[in-house]
Amino acid sequence: MKPIRVLQWGLGAMGSGMARLMLDKSGLQIVAAVDSRPEYVGKDLGEVLGLGKTLGVKVAGKPEDVLDKSKVDIAILATTSWISEQMPDLRKVITAGINCISIAEEMSDPDAQSPALGKELDDLAKKHGVTVLGTGVNPGFVLDALVVMLTGGCHSVERIEASRVNDLSPYGPTVIKSQGVGTTPEAFKAGVADGSIVGHVGFPESIHMISDALGLSVDRIEQTREPIISKVYRETPHVKVQPGMVAGCAHIGVGYRGDKEVVRLVHPQQIHPQLENQDTGDYINIFGKPEIHMSIKPEIAGGIATMGVTVNMIPHVVAATPGMKRMIDLPMPAALMGESAYQRRV
Ligand code: NAD
Repeated sequence: MKPIRVLQWGLGAMGSGMARLMLDKSGLQIVAAVDSRPEYVGKDLGEVLGLGKTLGVKVAGKPEDVLDKSKVDIAILATTSWISEQMPDLRKVITAGINCISIAEEMSDPDAQSPALGKELDDLAKKHGVTVLGTGVNPGFVLDALVVMLTGGCHSVERIEASRVNDLSPYGPTVIKSQGVGTTPEAFKAGVADGSIVGHVGFPESIHMISDALGLSVDRIEQTREPIISKVYRETPHVKVQPGMVAGCAHIGVGYRGDKEVVRLVHPQQIHPQLENQDTGDYINIFGKPEIHMSIKPEIAGGIATMGVTVNMIPHVVAATPGMKRMIDLPMPAALMGESAYQRRV
């Protein structure tokens, strides 16, 4: 079996984890890496990953130096959350004739919020004969692909309610800030109003995917973000939260068909939820025939699963027809443990 040759673009928390994971997969070979951090450029990838050995792959600062379709089958982009910010890089990958997976949250279903950019990506990918996928743990897996899969045996679905209750403590300052952790309730409100506190990125994408997969005809999506106010002192290396201050963000997205609520996604995220006896978990409730209630405790680990689902989708993307794809457009993901049926199709 010929290994799939991968370019890892973005070597931060997710990209470096995916690179380490791919080194363990016999069907995948990292042949190139890109990151704009000056301290990485020109170094061997093994050194950047802290492996204590070299891999013979130098980190490029300029993607143009490595975007060669005779050497690279697929690029994995782990750089940003926003499509508009990633578009220049996506255009470079696609026009070079290279397949692409992005973990930018908005890329999980570009049509949800940026249909013009989604169409441009689809047209460009078809023109150059490549496939582009947006994925990750959420959006991309827990609150959309898994929900859709669970309805697979249903005769009918009236309404879906799913929630992901997780712990923000392991995350760095960017996430802590974007969730409003450590602010006062008043500053949280102001941050939501001015867009500096965003909560979760991905509800429009997840709801759009679920609606489209099932034909639920959602025509309106509303979102609310409320502060989770702590009753106790909480602390991480990046933030201290006194009682009365904000420990996290309770973000809800609701999809309506006319006046009827059909999809409700709930994502309360806070540091150290256990200090107020809050269990973490992923819960999917499908109201229909039959009624289904799935509960995963604790929640599927976000970072690990983002790396996993992205790497596991690589053979699907390489084997797919050209165009912009979502998780609902490709075969189901499975852990790549050896010579899998999926990989044999490539
Ligand atoms: P990070 O900040 O740790 O790493 C980003 C890396 O990309 C950095 O090394 C940075 O130097 C590099 N970079 C940024 N822009 C670049 C560019 N244009 N060219 C080259 N290098 C560039 O972030 P992370 O934790 O690895 O996450 C990456 C993104 O993926 C974030 O926006 C995050 O929100 C998103 N994400 C999505 C999911 C999901 O479920 N869909 C899950 C995890 C992370």
